[in-house]
Amino acid sequence: MSRSPALLEMISGLIATPSVSSVNPALEQGNLAVIELLANWLEDSGFDIEIMPLPGTPARANLIATLGRGSGGLVLSGHTDTVPYDEGKWHYDPFRLRNTGNRLYGLGTSDMKSFMALALEAIRDLDADHLQQPLILLATADEETSMAGARALVERQRPQARYAVIGEPTGLRPVRMHKGILMEAIRLCGKSGHSSDPAQGNSALEAMHSVLGTLISWRKELQATHRNSLFAVPVPTLNLGHIHGGDNPNRICGSCELHLDLRPLPGMDLQELRDELRHRVLDALQDTGVEASIESLFEGIPAMETPANARIVQLAEKLTGHTPGAVAFGTEAPYLSRLGMETVILGPGDIAQAHQPDEYIRLDQLAPTVDLLKSMIDTVCIKDFHLL
Ligand SMILES: [Zn+2]
Repeated sequence: MSRSPALLEMISGLIATPSVSSVNPALEQGNLAVIELLANWLEDSGFDIEIMPLPGTPARANLIATLGRGSGGLVLSGHTDTVPYDEGKWHYDPFRLRNTGNRLYGLGTSDMKSFMALALEAIRDLDADHLQQPLILLATADEETSMAGARALVERQRPQARYAVIGEPTGLRPVRMHKGILMEAIRLCGKSGHSSDPAQGNSALEAMHSVLGTLISWRKELQATHRNSLFAVPVPTLNLGHIHGGDNPNRICGSCELHLDLRPLPGMDLQELRDELRHRVLDALQDTGVEASIESLFEGIPAMETPANARIVQLAEKLTGHTPGAVAFGTEAPYLSRLGMETVILGPGDIAQAHQPDEYIRLDQLAPTVDLLKSMIDTVCIKDFHLL
């Protein structure tokens, strides 16, 4: 039987515990304080607690809290970090939960600290002795930046369970697919020289012109050969987002750099795309004498797809009345899938409110979430879902 604080008190406590994750070290706050808060409540509720520090980072950790035993079971998963906030653009203190009667404002209310409190609320009256399958609450680090928390789980092959629900804000509509994300930098190195004599140099900027042409025709091919109508944008996208080269009009451009963002559909492998990119860029530069280096700007997030006939997907559909769909944002789902879990993304709040000033969650999303989680726990862990 749980002895955790009242629901709004838990949400308020989580919002008041800053856990901004950022690639900018000046903004990075770590998530350990949130992990400790959750660990205390979960321990009081009878869970076995495992805190998994991330290597080399004392202030960041994952939390795996387990109730019951066995090899199957259900994971309720959420990330504990938030994005940074725009100082001055908020009308409220982002770290003080503000209840207006129909909305709760605060950094992380939708994305996605409320979910962990709602999961705790859903197990308030749960009798651990009734569990046929374990229930695992998983709280991760660094989802908003490097996915280092999720990657550490895969490295250590923890936790092991059969099904997972990630409570990212989907407005309580189940999601079984998202695109992946690649962000790559292409750096071309030619030779600078005086503009008056082209023989003096080798223009990286002109070589980039060929690379751009190649990339745009590659995009056409990718979009002609890959389509998934469940997505609002049904084809893979390739955005040329940043370019910089040269300095002066009277100098031959010695180096030029392009950053691109590629969003593959499920079934498109990140490494294969990287190999193909390299191959096409080198092809475009043949005989130019310009050298290329290609680097990933971050690890990348694989696309994810859980089949429509997966049991957790069907359960989510039955309980919500919505056909599981696709979203445009990346999540930790591909990592949980890699751990062998059938994963569905389903949580309260709206992604439109995430990463925005005055982030909020609607109060009328809270009770339905608790009911939904209770039904899921009941079906998977108590009625012994995989034997049904
Ligand atoms: Zn999120």
